[in-house]
Order: sequence, then structure tokens, then C-alpha cells
Amino acid sequence: MPSVVIVGAGIGGLSAAIGLHRAGWRVRVLERAEEFAPVGAGITLWPNALRALRALGVELDADGAGVGGVRTRSGRWLARWRWSELERLAGGPLTAVSRARLHGALLDALFDAVPAGAIRLGTTVTEVPEADLVVAADGIDSALRARLFPELPAPVANGTTTWRGIAPVPRSGVPGWSNSWAGAREFGIVPLGRERVYWFAAMPAPPGETHDDERAFVAEHFGDWHEPIPELIATTETVLHLDIRHLATLPASYVAGRVALLGDAAHAMPPNLGQGGGMAIEDALTLAAALADTGDDVPAALARYDRERRPRTAAVAGEAARLSRLMSIGHPAVTAVRDTATRLLPASLMLRSIARWSRWPAPSLPG
Ligand SMILES: Cc1cc2nc3c(=O)[nH]c(=O)nc-3n(C[C@H](O)[C@H](O)[C@H](O)COP(=O)(O)OP(=O)(O)OC[C@H]3O[C@@H](n4cnc5c(N)ncnc54)[C@H](O)[C@@H]3O)c2cc1C
Repeated sequence: MPSVVIVGAGIGGLSAAIGLHRAGWRVRVLERAEEFAPVGAGITLWPNALRALRALGVELDADGAGVGGVRTRSGRWLARWRWSELERLAGGPLTAVSRARLHGALLDALFDAVPAGAIRLGTTVTEVPEADLVVAADGIDSALRARLFPELPAPVANGTTTWRGIAPVPRSGVPGWSNSWAGAREFGIVPLGRERVYWFAAMPAPPGETHDDERAFVAEHFGDWHEPIPELIATTETVLHLDIRHLATLPASYVAGRVALLGDAAHAMPPNLGQGGGMAIEDALTLAAALADTGDDVPAALARYDRERRPRTAAVAGEAARLSRLMSIGHPAVTAVRDTATRLLPASLMLRSIARWSRWPAPSLPG
């Protein structure tokens, strides 16, 4: 049996481990963290991500969220759409889950298939390990990418900082999905089923700036926005703060010798399309399908992986970076035009442009 070492047990690394095991490989996963503790936030999974997960044998329910839309800080709707309309344009159901749940589902699927010893925690990889194939799924600051592509510029901060949290459902009931805007500030509300709500806040800030009490800082800047925003901030146990960074220049290839770059290691993008994790899962499935199809011909499978993944992920990353730049322009004249266009144009135009990446036909795996 050929053997693969996967570096990193994030969404991409675990998905790759499941897929490559299914493709007939002996899998080992090396993870730097001492234990699995996915961050306390949520993640949006578009139809392409759910389809890729299903092809890997991981099922997550998608419960529709009634309505969604864009609001102002006072709560006035600039655009509003029915969930069914979004699903129709996206080509299938979409959902949001806690990262802990997604990670748990991936780990369950993996441990059903491989011995627990196949995942080694507390192992930081700095050199390319010995194996027939190595998957570098070690995230945005990938040590293997830096080693294999030393000329590639490091990830850049794009001047936006974010906070994320999971709160109980507010007194007013399960909210719809919404994104509220005031200038370059943004607050997103995403229900996680009927019991909890994931939220994120974003605003321009110099990278590296932190605050003694991040929740108090968010409350100071978003606490007078429409309901249930103040309540969500107040009832969240842990508020996570992170500067947004991305890879402004992507590697010239996602393959170097017998190493494949996957997920954020290959194409870390701003989160504006909610597709970074989805792309990592797609990468994993595509790599596994290519290896299953080409048998022992690893170079042919890797060439196909690079050919199939680089154009799509570069397009999604480029679009996410453009959206991120647009959202960070705080000039009142620009945000006024953006808000007016959002109010006047048919919602389907906006939906079509954000949902178009979801129409991805997932390859299938043997068995
Ligand atoms: C604010 C925010 C919101 C987002 N929202 C969404 C969303 O709604 N939907 C979506 O699809 N995506 C979203 N994303 C993007 C998504 O989180 C990432 O694209 C995804 O987590 C990438 O997975 P990955 O496995 O490639 O990398 P990571 O999740 O970063 O995993 C890398 C793993 O490698 C390990 N590691 C690192 N270095 C080493 C080493 N040297 N040796 C061994 N192990 C190592 C790390 O500990 C980690 O476990 C968001 C991102 C951000 C920042």
C-alpha cells in the first residue's frame, strides 16, 4: 500500500486523510497542536462544500434559515431574499455549523476507517517528511510552502480585523442570516440550527492591535446596532479576535515533486465569500479522486490535481480579495453608492454573484 503523510489536521488535512484512505493509501497525519480544540466559531458550508463532504462520506444536515439579507446598522433591510431563492441560485442546500461540529464529523469519519495512532498530535513539521506522497495542509503560515517556494511572498494583512463568537438564540427567536453594514464596518448573523447563533464583526484596523477586553471593544463599536446584535455580543462566552490575512500571490504550482499543497497552505483567501474551508474540502476530494483514478502514477495524479484546482481556487481567492477590498473602503461616498446599489438592484443579482462558486460537480471516490 502506498503511504501518504498529511501535515496538518485542520479541515483540509482531515478531509484529505479520509479521501486518501478511501483511495487505497496508508495515511498518517502529523499535527502541531497537542490536542484538538477547534476555535469557538461557526463556518458556512455552501453546496459545493456539502457535496464534497458527502462524497467523502461525511453528512451534515442543512436546515434552511427562512430569510436572509443585508441591513443597515439600524436594521433597515437593503436587500432581502428567501432561503429557497438562495438555494436555487446556489444549486443546492447550504448550511452553517460550529467548527467543533465539522471537526468532530471529520474525525469520526476518519477514526471509523483508520487506527487512532494514524494521527500524531504535538508534532511540528519543518522538513518534507519521507513518504510516497506528502500533503501540506498546514494552513496559511505553511512551513512546507515556505520551504518549497521560498520566493513566494508571505501572507499579508489586508487591514481588516474580525471578532467571532457563538451565542445562545436571542429572546426574539432564531434570527435569519443577515449581514449589516455601516461604512466599512460589518456584522454578520448566522443561525446554527435552532439553538445557537454564530456571529462575526469586522472593521478596518491596523494589524497587530489587540484590546484587554475584546468583547467590551466589540460592544463599544457595535453595541448600539439593531437587535439582536447587542444581545448576541452580551451573551457570548468567548469572543475570538483575528486580523484577516491572505496569500496575495499564489504559488506557481500546487505541486512540488511528491508534495501537494492543499487548503489555506495553497490559497489562503479573505473570508468574504465563506469559501476558504469549502475549497480545502474540494482540494482534498479532487486529490483523492485523481489518485484513485491514476493508480500508482502519482506524478500524473498530482499534475491533474494542480490543473484542476489552481484555476478555480485562484478565481475564488481573487473574487474574495476584491470583495474584501470593496468592503474595507470606508469613504462615505463609496459606501453610499454600495448601499444604494444593494437597495435598488434585484437581490438575485447579488445572490447570483456570491453563489456562483457553489455549482461545482464533486468527483466520486471508489467504495
Ligand atoms: C474569520 C474567518 C471566517 C471564515 N469563514 C469561513 C466560512 O464561513 N466558510 C468557509 O468555508 N471558510 C471560512 N473561512 C476559511 C477557513 O477557515 C479556512 O479556509 C480553513 O480553515 C482552511 O483549512 P486548512 O485545513 O487548509 O487550514 P487550517 O485550518 O489552518 O489547518 C492547518 C492545520 O495545520 C496545523 N499546522 C500548522 N503548521 C504545522 C506544522 N508545521 N506542522 C504540523 N502541523 C501544522 C495547524 O495546527 C492546523 O491544525 C474563514 C476564515 C476566517 C479567518
